[in-house]
Amino acid sequence: MTIALVQSRNSVGTGSPAPASALAKERNEGRAFLDAAPALTLGGAVLGCNFGLLSNFAGWALVAAAGVKIGVQSLESRLGGGATKFPDAAHGLAGAAMAAALGFVCLSVFLTETPASIRTAAVISTVGYAVLAAEREASRPRFANLQAACALGLFALGLALSWDKYSPIAIASTLTLGFALFMATRRRTRGVAQTAESERRFTIALNSMSHCVGMFDGSGRLIAGNQQFLRMFRFAEPAFGNAPVEDMLRKSLGLRLRNPSAADVLCDAAAEVLKRQARECVALELSDARFMEFTFQTTPEGFSLLIEDVTARRVSELRIERVARVDDLTGLSNRTSFRESLERATAAIGEASPPFAVMMVDLDRFKHVNDSLGHPVGDKLLQRVAKRMQEMADPEDVVARLGCDEFVFLRFSAREDAARFAASAVETLSEPYHVEGAKLMIGASIGIAMAPEDATETSDLMKAADMALYAAKDAGRGAFRFFHAEMAEEARRKQEIEQDLRIGISRNELEVHYQPIVSLVKRRICSCEALVRWRHPVRGLISPADFMEIAEDSGLIVPLGEWVLRQACNDAKSWPRDVRLAVNFSGIQFARSNVADTVRRVLKETKFPASRLEMEITESVLMHDFEAVLDTINELRDMGMRVALDDFGAGYSSLAYLSRFRPDKVKIDQCFVRDMAKNGTALAIIKAVKAIVQELEIDMLVEGVETMEQFEILRAHGADEAQGYLFSKPRPAQEIARFVADPAQLVRGRKLLIEKSAPWVKACERVNPAMARRAAG
Ligand code: C2E
Ligand code: MG
Ligand code: MG
Repeated sequence: MTIALVQSRNSVGTGSPAPASALAKERNEGRAFLDAAPALTLGGAVLGCNFGLLSNFAGWALVAAAGVKIGVQSLESRLGGGATKFPDAAHGLAGAAMAAALGFVCLSVFLTETPASIRTAAVISTVGYAVLAAEREASRPRFANLQAACALGLFALGLALSWDKYSPIAIASTLTLGFALFMATRRRTRGVAQTAESERRFTIALNSMSHCVGMFDGSGRLIAGNQQFLRMFRFAEPAFGNAPVEDMLRKSLGLRLRNPSAADVLCDAAAEVLKRQARECVALELSDARFMEFTFQTTPEGFSLLIEDVTARRVSELRIERVARVDDLTGLSNRTSFRESLERATAAIGEASPPFAVMMVDLDRFKHVNDSLGHPVGDKLLQRVAKRMQEMADPEDVVARLGCDEFVFLRFSAREDAARFAASAVETLSEPYHVEGAKLMIGASIGIAMAPEDATETSDLMKAADMALYAAKDAGRGAFRFFHAEMAEEARRKQEIEQDLRIGISRNELEVHYQPIVSLVKRRICSCEALVRWRHPVRGLISPADFMEIAEDSGLIVPLGEWVLRQACNDAKSWPRDVRLAVNFSGIQFARSNVADTVRRVLKETKFPASRLEMEITESVLMHDFEAVLDTINELRDMGMRVALDDFGAGYSSLAYLSRFRPDKVKIDQCFVRDMAKNGTALAIIKAVKAIVQELEIDMLVEGVETMEQFEILRAHGADEAQGYLFSKPRPAQEIARFVADPAQLVRGRKLLIEKSAPWVKACERVNPAMARRAAG
């Protein structure tokens, strides 16, 4: 290979500044002595034997020519081949002088009285030199031919001058040998030229590569390299020629590795390839932020090393990796990346690693901000939250965004520190945010699971932190809670209920009860609210309060809600036309199904008029995706349905919703009625709401009326409708059917139907004295 660092006479110009190695120099000098040794021996012998003046003269000439040849060849190897014209010409002349001296010795021994042994030695040396010249000077045929001509010509002249009858034969065979050598030199020259050409092309190809390629032998020593490779290892210094790979990688690599100890990795890879005959690929970052890939690959001689600048590829890989591991919006770690970090932390449990906390963070009221102010504001708010979280975290903490407004901390700390950190996080995250000119107030709830105390597996820790987060939210939000075993018990119980509920729905264990609503204006029952119950084969009648949340969390509310609507419409068909049906709808139904389509389908199937159907929704329904919910509600209103805002006052921003979405009715939450007796605030609020809804022409219903006293007060303050145990508890379909058909019979049969008969009679008297009189009579 012409890019070999050891430059030989047989190689042709490569264009590469490959320096001669010290070893190559030694070899060349050794060869010069070897080439000249036969000549020196012959010259010495001829001089020693002293056959006469001519022979002595030839002997001295031979010794001198051999000396010149050794000198020129040594100088040549020191200066490096091809560096100047002089050594090349000197080389040719020294070779020719030596050939001529040998030929002259031949001539002299033929013309003087010499023994046959000396003549034979002279002939062998001369012919041998001519033959070897053809081999030695294959790349310079002129020199080969000149040397053969000098040696054999003088030899033939010797034969001619010592003429006898056999001389023609000897001369002819000498000339034939000369011709044969000439032809052999030509052949060999052509072969060398072809090899040189293909080597040249190969070298050009290698040198035009952008990569650095080097070849090493089986002992890990450099034997070849393209120009880029030589430059990379600063190969102007000859000392590195034939250098061991380890020295090169440690001492002469012209790259500044970001981590200098990474050279060890490269040396290990080279050793591994030498040992195992394999392929090793190592990518390293440089201090100037570039990336270099070192590929060690086994070859028949040893191995090759390819060094490639992979910065562009690495940058795009890193970008892809970043996209896969980083949350686009906030720049925090994403769920995948967090899981990996947590897996690493759990894997280290037991190896004297410190305890750590998984802190699940959920933003309170974020959805409301997002829905009411729009997604761009919501996005900016999330970015601010992420920034605050990053600022409060320690460098070794992991902060990630798992989903919409769900964040998580992985913090290496003990329980006490986790508690302190969580308390300050709740406080920091609840401070106002200023986004696009608006002052936004949100809060944060945090659930904490400790490892290894609560769990040691990744998914168990996530679940535990999740359960703790639920507990924090249940505790009224804006708080943090640690996981404890009862939470797991509660979660298990909920799971059981969910399974049971699925079975219950399929076995028709659910039934709908109805609670009458009395119109104080019309003085009669104006509607009945459908309230679902679960008749459990073991646990008896279960209130929706105990399973509604589970039905919502599991999505079971969607089929369940449709079933309740269908059942209620069928039941209410037999009621008087002026008694409406109120049905509760959950936010999950809006989020996960097309409520308008469902209602339209059920009304068509049951032939129940839309004008008699009233939908009860809470504020939470509106908080999900206000615009979409409003579209659905408007669609239903267009069909003739009425909409009531349930549990009014128990939520957050009822007044904002009142202005944007005008319900037909608000149902004041029963907590206000309950609190009326305790303080004046509850009544003040009821009065204020009445003032507002009156302006907006919205009816006001008061829920949870249990006593005559409450009823009197509410009536006095303008309640349009009332609902509560004072009138009736929710009752099964048959009972309510009888009741709404003739409310008076409720009074007549009060012992059968109501518990608080006396107050009811009085209530009926207030609502409709005539009816009460009829009933009493
Ligand atoms: P809600 O819609 O506010 O229903 C009124 C709740 O107050 C009912 O509880 C009712 O029995 C109770 N109530 C009525 N008058 C009084 C009273 O004077 N005193 C007291 N202490 N309570 C009274 P219930 O039936 O347990 O229902 C609880 C909640 O479950 C309902 O509150 C409603 O949000 C939900 N729910 C019930 N059925 C359904 C349904 O079919 N679909 C949906 N989505 N939710 C339902
Ligand atoms: Mg309701
Ligand atoms: Mg309610």
